[in-house]
Amino acid sequence: MCKQVYSVKGDEKTCSWPAYIAALDPSGNDDDFVLPHDEEGLCLFHSKDIDWKRNHACFESFVTLLSYLNDDPRREEIMLQNFIITGLELEDQPGHPDYACLFERYVFRKLLLMFDCVFVDEVEMEAVRFFDEVCLVSCEFKKQILVTNCRFNENVDMFDNCLFKGTLRLHGNHFKSPFSIVQSTTEQGLDIDINDFFGRFLLSDCQLLNGEESLYIMANFHNGFELRNNKTGDYLNLQECTFRGDCSIHNYSATTTLHLEEFDSATQSHPVFDIIVRITNNTGHVRDAQES
Ligand SMILES: [Zn+2]
Repeated sequence: MCKQVYSVKGDEKTCSWPAYIAALDPSGNDDDFVLPHDEEGLCLFHSKDIDWKRNHACFESFVTLLSYLNDDPRREEIMLQNFIITGLELEDQPGHPDYACLFERYVFRKLLLMFDCVFVDEVEMEAVRFFDEVCLVSCEFKKQILVTNCRFNENVDMFDNCLFKGTLRLHGNHFKSPFSIVQSTTEQGLDIDINDFFGRFLLSDCQLLNGEESLYIMANFHNGFELRNNKTGDYLNLQECTFRGDCSIHNYSATTTLHLEEFDSATQSHPVFDIIVRITNNTGHVRDAQES
């Protein structure tokens, strides 16, 4: 039994994954899916021993668990707490990470909830489909996260104290419903490149630190866009964006530059930006945005 304890709706629970997995294969003959425990008595998902997790194929077990949960009719959602995920060992190539959590063409059919989880290695998602909501609370990504050509049918919330120690890069994704990042920190920039947001986009109470461009956005916002109470460590760059719906920047503070360029607005009844922006040493083009 795993010693990990966490709270579910106020009640303390111990980790039930070893029992869940054992019940899947009562004969114990499934060599592909065993859940070992470390010296501290923590299961493969909750162990803090990174080398031990790598040696015991933590990521492969994680993906297998996701597959079982996706298919399990008794579970309406995939809820994971306090997981520490290490990645696959990759072939040694210059410029590539040693380890990465790779999700390619994966399909999440259920609500995905992750609380207090840590991704130790780079995360790469390519052409993944999410049919239900995605909600991350107090999760930490220790390396960069790349989300490319994915489709999100329902709400995406990355809120409440998520920490992205590497760049958070969203490229070529399709968000059908509202998307929000709230009360989170990116230490190496947030890069939103050629995305379509069909629901409202909200970035609120975040700290966007360092990076070449702390916040870079090139996207089509089909149903509103809001930046509120954020602090940007460096360059804020909005380029070649399309804004439809009620779009605003409120109480934004950046230490250097706000740059707005080549954007198109189809907003009818609202100003594009109700800008209450504090920019020190600003050399950008805020005025252009107000006049559009
Ligand atoms: Zn556990």
